Amino acid sequence: MLDLVPQNAPLLPAIREAFERVMTKNAFVLGTEVDAFEREIASLLRVKHAIGCSSGTDAQLLAMMALGLGPGDEVITTPFTFFATAGCIARLGATPVFVDIDPHTWNLDVDRIAAARTPRTKAIAPVHLYGQPCDMPRMLEVARALELPILEDAAQSVLADTSVGMTGAIGRAGWLSFYPTKNLSAFGDAGLATTNDDALADQMRMLRNHGSRVRYHHEAIGGNFRLDGLQAAVLRVKLPHLQGWTEKRRANAARYDRLFAQAGLDPQRFGTPVRREAGHCYHQYVIRTGARDALRAYLTEQRIGTEIYYPVPLHLQPCFAHLGQREGSLPNAERASHEVLALPIYPELSEAQIDRVVDAVVAFHRR
Ligand SMILES: *Cc1c(COP(=O)(O)O)cnc(C)c1O
Repeated sequence: MLDLVPQNAPLLPAIREAFERVMTKNAFVLGTEVDAFEREIASLLRVKHAIGCSSGTDAQLLAMMALGLGPGDEVITTPFTFFATAGCIARLGATPVFVDIDPHTWNLDVDRIAAARTPRTKAIAPVHLYGQPCDMPRMLEVARALELPILEDAAQSVLADTSVGMTGAIGRAGWLSFYPTKNLSAFGDAGLATTNDDALADQMRMLRNHGSRVRYHHEAIGGNFRLDGLQAAVLRVKLPHLQGWTEKRRANAARYDRLFAQAGLDPQRFGTPVRREAGHCYHQYVIRTGARDALRAYLTEQRIGTEIYYPVPLHLQPCFAHLGQREGSLPNAERASHEVLALPIYPELSEAQIDRVVDAVVAFHRR
């Protein structure tokens, strides 16, 4: 499903050198490597402020704390995402309000946002799932009309581009993850908070370090959300390669698309999202089929790795049962959770490997 060795192996000499730099400078937490990484990735994302964090989850928590979200507040979001998106909202005492997804893109359905708005709604938190940008021009229109800020979960969508900017750089704030399985990956946990708002960036930098600007003086209650120098050093070595890796992911996806189309599988029973936003960075290449679990078992037998993102939508998780939604409340998300299957898509995948995956999927469907 994912092999990081072919990506890391050629970079190891440069990474060792970067580690030496950190070790001799004693800049283990924040410091020069983190500062340089923040400048370099901000320029790549075309965003004014990039704030290195201890994980994507912590970056989200930091952004939401800096915006003052808390008890009584509601945030409109998607139920079809990684747990952290809603978990961070709830950890601050706010309520995630799950709105169903667009069955054609698997992203938060823009047309359902207005109806979910209440006097307590404080923000819209869309997720660019699998690296496919949400319809951001329309999302911006809706958010403007409702006078709500957009907070973007760009954890899966580094370098996914849209007509209104890079994902993560469009809304009031955003966050990215550099967890080892993500498109840009550290050697452990790491993340980034983003914003074009100077005052918000200043607040986030202060809260990232226990609400302190001057050591041992605390103007607010923050946390330890800081990025390590060693992680920043690894990320800086990888950053110049990210555009090339993204192009390879796009080429791999195009090959899958072409081969599946040539195989003539019934698109009603088998398929990729019907509408593909341009600028998709293919964190995942996901197909859907009513025979998902049987297909997955067959591919496992053929020694082909697959993954299910995500088997249980968040409104059906036991920890959110108190929100009162049940089976049937958000049918598009529920259906997706039964049908989606992610295939290997990492940049170093060979054409022969892709062909073997396609042959196996086609053989399964012909049986
Ligand atoms: C990975 C991920 C996160 C959390 O990032 P971590 O770095 O693992 O904390 C949040 N949201 C989504 C959609 C993710 O995929």
